[in-house]
Amino acid sequence: MSDNFLGDFHPDNFYMGQALREAQRAYAAQEVPIGAIIVKGDQVIARAWNQVETLKDATAHAEMLALTSAQNALGDWRLEGCTLFVTKEPCPMCAGAIVHCRPDRVVFGCGDPKAGAAGGWINLLESNPPLNHRCEILSGVLEDECVSILKSFFREARERNALGKAHKKAGEQDRGIV
Ligand SMILES: [Zn+2]
Repeated sequence: MSDNFLGDFHPDNFYMGQALREAQRAYAAQEVPIGAIIVKGDQVIARAWNQVETLKDATAHAEMLALTSAQNALGDWRLEGCTLFVTKEPCPMCAGAIVHCRPDRVVFGCGDPKAGAAGGWINLLESNPPLNHRCEILSGVLEDECVSILKSFFREARERNALGKAHKKAGEQDRGIV
């Protein structure tokens, strides 16, 4: 049976679907919608969504929170035999943390050519000679869904912004400021 034939039932697609559900939670909380899960065997051991605004913590990326949660679940910082699924290519901070935790694989949805650290801008996961662990990378899993949730989030944010500015301007005109 080919991977294509399996479609949505392919485990990578299924688990990325779970990561996308986490991204939707972020969206609902007005956070940049990125979600991550960590799987060991066929068990999801950690789920997390980006919570930078919620926690007022610039390090609270979905991957960082998922790594901490997986380490707690396993009682070990070594995530051997684990796969991290994340909707967007990890940034350098997250990629650095991922290498330290040593999961076998990292699967992501959409790439980030500007700031990605899994091959987009740089590659800390695979070609990192001074580091002592390398992760296998697979990209482009449910890419369209992962791109579209980000696009609609930023479109909405721009519209909210524009509306806010328009309201402010109208208010200023009402008060004769402009
Ligand atoms: Zn990150």
